[in-house]
Amino acid sequence: MKPANKDMSCEDVLKHLFEFLDGELDHAVEGDIEQHLKRCRSCFSRADFERRLKQKLAEAAETEAPPSLRARVRSLITKF
Ligand SMILES: [Zn+2]
Repeated sequence: MKPANKDMSCEDVLKHLFEFLDGELDHAVEGDIEQHLKRCRSCFSRADFERRLKQKLAEAAETEAPPSLRARVRSLITKF
């Protein structure tokens, strides 16, 4: 894994957003993204949106949505 970059670009943040929300990132990188989200409105709203969406998907999964649907929704989102 490459060393953490203290000054992440929006592009980098969005690239790692799903791993970030899933808690799958290296702690250093996770910290850098948190820092970026604190000073970048647009990435913050994007992350907030994805987080809510993830919650909704999780709720839907508990009731009825099959895993294949969740995977499809997720692949659609990453194409944005
Ligand atoms: Zn940003």
